[in-house]
Amino acid sequence: MEKEVIVQKFGGSSVANIERMKNVARRVVVYKNKHTDVVVVVSALGDTTDELESMALQLNADPPDREMDMLLSTGEQISCALLAIAIKELGYEAISFTGRQVGIKTDKIHTKARIMTIDGKRINKAFKDDKIVIVAGYQGVTSNDDITTLGRGGSDLTAVALAKALRAKVCEIYTDVDGIYTADPRIVKEARKIKNITFDEMLEMASLGAQVIQARSIEVAKRFNIPLHVRSSFSKEEGTMVVKETEKMESIAVRGVTCNKNEAKITICSVPDKPGIAAKIFGEISKQGINVDTIVQNVPHDRLSDISFTVPKVDLNKAIKATQTIGNKIGAGEVLEDRNIARVSLVGSGMRSHSGIAAKMFKTLADEKINIGMISTSEISVSCIIGQDLADKAVKALHKTFKLETI
Ligand code: ASP
Ligand code: MG
Repeated sequence: MEKEVIVQKFGGSSVANIERMKNVARRVVVYKNKHTDVVVVVSALGDTTDELESMALQLNADPPDREMDMLLSTGEQISCALLAIAIKELGYEAISFTGRQVGIKTDKIHTKARIMTIDGKRINKAFKDDKIVIVAGYQGVTSNDDITTLGRGGSDLTAVALAKALRAKVCEIYTDVDGIYTADPRIVKEARKIKNITFDEMLEMASLGAQVIQARSIEVAKRFNIPLHVRSSFSKEEGTMVVKETEKMESIAVRGVTCNKNEAKITICSVPDKPGIAAKIFGEISKQGINVDTIVQNVPHDRLSDISFTVPKVDLNKAIKATQTIGNKIGAGEVLEDRNIARVSLVGSGMRSHSGIAAKMFKTLADEKINIGMISTSEISVSCIIGQDLADKAVKALHKTFKLETI
């Protein structure tokens, strides 16, 4: 009988120091038995990646991407070797590999490469020798033998891609929270751990600010239908399963409420109201690689209108510059910024078949005297941009209205 394979990914906080590394080693060996082969994917220790990045930026404000990949990939190499060392101490056989050593081939887009193929040969050989396999997350190699990284949070992607390549029955994502909650438990004390969530809901939550799993890895898990189990490395409790949608799951309209305080709003005033203007503005911004989210264009007065949109706060300065440049070219007015905003969103795949969710959301906010600045929707979410100081109040009220403490 072929053995079952399980992939376990441990994030940076789970391996942040020696004690935690020992804890991971103890957890991992429990799974290794006659019937199961284990692949462990590790992130860099604690904030290593940030620290390495900051060193590079102190040397060069615009460091070459290839060298950044050489640098940042080392963090994961350290943790995979340390974990193998810790596991051996417990009397089990383990072997660590870099991405390159297990044949993770990527395209050539440094710092955000995509995995093209994985050659599982070396891993399968290690399984035959009854070893626990530890793989450095977040990295691969190009056809030119240059090391690449997979974008921040990319160890999740390594884990999911390995789960697919090795036909694992589940991919466990160990982190410092014990699952996905109906709302941030620091804001809403009644928030509940969600047992099952769909890939689409998880993707939506990730893009709306609940950063537990890297969004790209959820997309890949969805495409290949690989169940993810998000759980805590500090407790034995079951976490949240991210799975394919079932009919039963659709009966719940709202699965959770998220809040993102990392966006800012830009308004470009008195824009000439004629065809092609929006294309020019957003063309310029996208050229800078900035992701624009909600966009609102006001009703024109005297053939001039204001356009507001949101961008990630980290890109605000770049976006303001780009907007000013294009604003001057098209003869628009002032460019204003507002950092004091929050995006509060409801997510649920049941929204596809339930109506009135948005109306109920607006009514709740109105009852709390919270003004809505912008609104956007997707098939399975409704978002309102509101003042940041009212965000927690909004999240609490929405959690209550939709009775999320009872699901
Ligand atoms: N160490 C990398 C990062 O911090 C990759 C990861 O943690 O998944 O982004
Ligand atoms: Mg990390």
